[in-house]
Amino acid sequence: MNPKAASQHMDKIVSLCKRRGFIFQSSEIYGGLNGAWDYGPIGVELKRNLKNYWWRMMVHEREDVVGMDGAILTHPEVLTASGHVGGFSDPMIDCRSCKAHLRLDQLIEKKGIKQCPNCGGKDLTEARQFNLMFETHLGAAADESSIAYLRPETAQSIFVQFKNILEVSRKKLPFGIAQIGKAFRNEINPRNFTFRSREFEQMELEYFCRPEQGMGLLEYWKEERLRFYENIGIPRDKLHVKAVPDEERAFYSKGTYDIEYDFPFGVQELEGVAYRTDYDLSQHQKASGKSLEYFDEEMKQKFIPHVVEPSAGVDRTVLALICEAYAEDEAPDEKGKMETRIVLRFHPRIAPIKCAVFPLLKNKEPLVAKAKEIVDLLRPHMYIFYDESGAIGRRYRRQDEIGTPFGITVDFETMGEKDPKLRDTVTLRERDSMKQERVRISDLLQLLSMRIA
Ligand code: ATP
Repeated sequence: MNPKAASQHMDKIVSLCKRRGFIFQSSEIYGGLNGAWDYGPIGVELKRNLKNYWWRMMVHEREDVVGMDGAILTHPEVLTASGHVGGFSDPMIDCRSCKAHLRLDQLIEKKGIKQCPNCGGKDLTEARQFNLMFETHLGAAADESSIAYLRPETAQSIFVQFKNILEVSRKKLPFGIAQIGKAFRNEINPRNFTFRSREFEQMELEYFCRPEQGMGLLEYWKEERLRFYENIGIPRDKLHVKAVPDEERAFYSKGTYDIEYDFPFGVQELEGVAYRTDYDLSQHQKASGKSLEYFDEEMKQKFIPHVVEPSAGVDRTVLALICEAYAEDEAPDEKGKMETRIVLRFHPRIAPIKCAVFPLLKNKEPLVAKAKEIVDLLRPHMYIFYDESGAIGRRYRRQDEIGTPFGITVDFETMGEKDPKLRDTVTLRERDSMKQERVRISDLLQLLSMRIA
């Protein structure tokens, strides 16, 4: 996509997200808070479905992974030991002409001269390091002794709790600890909608192993993670695996892959899969003075485990899911005339609402009562939306725009008025093909459960 078309395409997505309740600018009525986003009624469902599926695949469907949920406020010594206090920074430059604050890698270069991407200005300050962590103070005394940080990644609480979790879970290597939660980075330039935010969520697994297993597990987790994205509807040909070159990798990492997605604004990182060696546990052992070693009973050996970390962004994946699902096609309006239809083709597994139920007419009591019976039948098993207002075509279109994969309509045939054989059957409409099939009410639960699993 050329830059102009890409930006128009993103504008349509951002506008749909607001119009249909996926994502709003945070503090919008006060002018907005840069780099922070609020998820609306539909967005929160999509986000939860994504997190639940990650948890299911990474924790519940495995014998070798347990979960945890750590605090966001973090002791400064944790982040000093991990290297974040000293080194978690981006090189930053100011443009003296337009006063923009820029990341060094955002500058453009023309004829060997660096320029501001906003105004073309060449009067730039020297690069200086800008630490991305948010600092706060615990309690009433706002001095050095009360400093705490909002965690810049979820990983560190996993390392710090390694020993406790090892003891309570009684796992043997290799095993993993998973966590989903908020992380905070004071990004110099939040941009591309939610892609780079200052407050975001991560889904991280720290998978501990023997040193000789590290490189093999790096390959294994890269493949597992690709399988995850395919399972939620992101096709393999839109995903790219970048082997991060030596000079860009953290010094302690023996290998890192970035899993990238073809966003409309370019190919960009969704997730990093990194073999972090025994760096983090060793640092915390040194700094805390507490042993973080593992005793291998069979080998009669004590050592600090190595770790492979698949670290994904919730918000970036939500954005990728929306970009991937967005489509425009043609559908007939009320009078049979073809019109443009906006549809989000989400995989049913992550679709915010699984099924909408409509009585054909809202002023026909038996139709309404039957439709509500169906809602009661399905609601304990999936998120259902009931809608009786407006023409049926319009109701379908509203669901298409939020990606509801199935629509059930209760009509006069359901009441057996036209053909007694059709009593207690409904039409089931599929979002993408718009095909309708006649289904017995008693078969609905099994049929839908199979398709959304
Ligand atoms: P980037 O290079 O884009 O800044 P990163 O390599 O610093 O990302 P990691 O530290 O590896 O990111 O974090 C793991 C994941 O967390 C990323 O792949 C991304 O999905 C997510 N993430 C990191 N920073 C942000 C952010 N500012 N906004 C949204 N998601 C983020």
